[in-house]
Amino acid sequence: MTSTPYWPRPAERYAGRLPERADVLVIGGGITGTSLLHHLAARGMDAVLVERAHIASGASGRNAGFLLAGVADSYADAVRTYGRSRASDIWHMTLENHATMTEAVKGEDVGHRRLGSAILASGEEEAARLAESAQLLGEDGFEVRWDGRRLVNPRDGEVNPAAMVGALARLAEPGAIREGVNVTAIEARSPEVVVHADGAECRAGCVILATNAYTPLLLPQVAIKPRRAQMLASGPDGARLCDLPTYSHFGYRYWRQMPTGEVLIGGWRDTAYDEEIGYDETPTDQIQAHLDAQLKRMGAESGVTHRWAGIMGFTETGLPLVGPVEGLPGVYLCAGFNGHGMGFAFVSAKRLVESL
Ligand SMILES: Cc1cc2nc3c(=O)[nH]c(=O)nc-3n(C[C@H](O)[C@H](O)[C@H](O)COP(=O)(O)OP(=O)(O)OC[C@H]3O[C@@H](n4cnc5c(N)ncnc54)[C@H](O)[C@@H]3O)c2cc1C
Repeated sequence: MTSTPYWPRPAERYAGRLPERADVLVIGGGITGTSLLHHLAARGMDAVLVERAHIASGASGRNAGFLLAGVADSYADAVRTYGRSRASDIWHMTLENHATMTEAVKGEDVGHRRLGSAILASGEEEAARLAESAQLLGEDGFEVRWDGRRLVNPRDGEVNPAAMVGALARLAEPGAIREGVNVTAIEARSPEVVVHADGAECRAGCVILATNAYTPLLLPQVAIKPRRAQMLASGPDGARLCDLPTYSHFGYRYWRQMPTGEVLIGGWRDTAYDEEIGYDETPTDQIQAHLDAQLKRMGAESGVTHRWAGIMGFTETGLPLVGPVEGLPGVYLCAGFNGHGMGFAFVSAKRLVESL
């Protein structure tokens, strides 16, 4: 089965080579790398981004495009894990991510809509969790609606994620993005960092890895686990089959319908947890059959046009790793987005740049 995302690749081409020198070298051309470039430029810092394939070729051009507030777990679970005040801070941070990322590309067609999202209870256990979340969110001053079956976050939204990366990339200075540069090694040689790619060397003042799931391939000591997520897209359907981007089964299953009628369905990783591990981007019959069944349940009449997979990066804490890499002076991480990078990366990149 081929793995062709529904989202077209950004049209621009950024041919280039590894620079010999850079003040800041960003590795990875997804939502995180292009966000970093944007924030670095805003602070007047000279930076070059290198990407081994093309921008948005990783998870950023392969995801569902949900812009959700909070972490992958429900707000009630986040309160239990991180404490009330931290869970609330994270919620604020993701709202800020939504507002500032879409503001940065204002006027560009990135398919942004902010109609809200729905979390649908898969059963009594999830319903109890969502009811508790609605209560806590309300008490903490966040807008939320709970009707006993689904929790609606009216401040959530959706984008075309590849177009979002493309729009952020267009804000970069000419020559600042270089596609087709595959980094193979990073050496901290204080006060510089030496980066190797394709037989060339770059001496950088500092290096930021925006390589999400792929980070351990360069730095095996980083605890990020690669997990595959699969999706499909249908042809346009005349009927409205779902009103809001919808999330269910504790975030493992999700779907949305484009304004043009196409239905996008993803997830079902919970049905083959041990197989959906690693870096293989090939969709499987087993998961795709579940996605087909959901398309049928939704009443879609159009057939499937695209099937694809992407690789997400999971951390032990459920939160991204943003900051210096221990034992490697001058090397920083902005990675490990736990399947929610569209909701976290822009602001995480900003916080990292502010800390440099
Ligand atoms: C099917 C699916 C659905 C998802 N749905 C959503 C969603 O609806 N909402 C949401 O918020 N998140 C979603 N996610 C998660 C989201 O896509 C990721 O969290 C986000 O894209 C991570 O962005 P990134 O830029 O950090 O990583 P990536 O987009 O993976 O980019 C990393 C880049 O680094 C490059 N790279 C890696 N190694 C090297 C190297 N050695 N040299 C040079 N370049 C290198 C890769 O080629 C890649 O382009 C989903 C993910 C998948 C797979």
